Amino acid sequence: MKPSKVSLVQVKDYQQEHLNSGLKKGLNLLGGIQHIINPHSRVFVKINHLSPPSPPEKAIVTHPSFTREVLGILKSLSCHITVGDDIQYKGKDRFHTSGYQKICDEMEVELINLKEAGFRKIKCNGKHLKSIYISPPILESDHVINLPKLKTHSFTIFTGAVKNMYGVIPYGLRLQYHKQFSLPSEFSEMLVDIYSCVPPCLSIMDGINSMEGEGPSSGNPRKTNVILISEDGVALDAVASQIVGLDPISVYSTQDAHQRGVGVGDLKKIQILGEEISRIKTRDFKHSAVAVGIIQRRIPQILHSFIQNQLTFIPEVIPKKCTSCMECIDICPTAAAQIVNGKAWIEQNKCIHCMCCHEVCQFHAIKLKNQPMGLLIRKASHWKQKISRLLRFQRD
Ligand code: SF4
Ligand code: SF4
Repeated sequence: MKPSKVSLVQVKDYQQEHLNSGLKKGLNLLGGIQHIINPHSRVFVKINHLSPPSPPEKAIVTHPSFTREVLGILKSLSCHITVGDDIQYKGKDRFHTSGYQKICDEMEVELINLKEAGFRKIKCNGKHLKSIYISPPILESDHVINLPKLKTHSFTIFTGAVKNMYGVIPYGLRLQYHKQFSLPSEFSEMLVDIYSCVPPCLSIMDGINSMEGEGPSSGNPRKTNVILISEDGVALDAVASQIVGLDPISVYSTQDAHQRGVGVGDLKKIQILGEEISRIKTRDFKHSAVAVGIIQRRIPQILHSFIQNQLTFIPEVIPKKCTSCMECIDICPTAAAQIVNGKAWIEQNKCIHCMCCHEVCQFHAIKLKNQPMGLLIRKASHWKQKISRLLRFQRD
């Protein structure tokens, strides 16, 4: 497999001039955008939006100012551009709160909620999926550009370029897959199936204000001040996860995509251009459910499902924070989340621990509770990491 290239550029903030020079520098390191995107071509730009809509400062969505600068670069090539994601929303919000409506209006580019354009069935020669449904604006484009946000994920540990392409399939199917692929490893393999069916020609990651803790929506913004660009989204994820202190191969989607040859997940085979990774690396970045992915692969196969079960977080509603907005009820794939006495409530024996309810609750009314054995394992893992960091520090 030939080495993949990832450009790494430090960017201070979302000010237009900083973004513009950072993006141009990163693209030039890869040989320039004109070598990747044909002038006058039809380009679909896949943002990471998530529902319910949220303001950019929460670091849930790809920052609209970041996307605006990417659109400016594409416009300089006279591309016909469509920006979109598949989102659920109530009322009139759609893409307003996130700032996307405003920037797309200003840039005079089409902004679509994929469900409004419908979906078409295509073949998928994946490990799990034999067909998938994709929206026509994506299928009819000449190029797909992927704009993921650097975030932790309470189910898959990390979300980046591969996971961002999950949003190209219909919402109902996403719920079904959460139910069908209830282990993070299987779920991540299914993500690779989708990514390989709709491979973006370019991934540009917003890692300026990232999310740590309980991502992808209930974590905390964390400045990481970096833009990553690559034609290989798997390589980009490998570098991004290393920046936030995760072993790239501990991210199941990176491991699986690398093994299948969908992309390069081995840092030794990735050429990093621009900044050195050691200068960008963020110490003490808080991960989510780190043990679920990392410990699981170090134990014998026979114990996997037991440990997996113990490490699973139990979602619980905090009644005084719950506004009964119904978002968790609507998204729950198994109807485990219900409204009881005017507040959300989770029927635990129906719950498959997909964390979708936690992801959509903008009021932080769903906490993730450790199971007793899971707590012990996590504490042991936490102390092991602290001790090895200390030993490394003494050695250095
Ligand atoms: S738990 Fe959160 S998402 Fe669910 S109804 Fe309450 S406020 Fe809404
Ligand atoms: S209650 Fe939450 S974690 Fe459990 S199945 Fe429903 S959405 Fe998933």
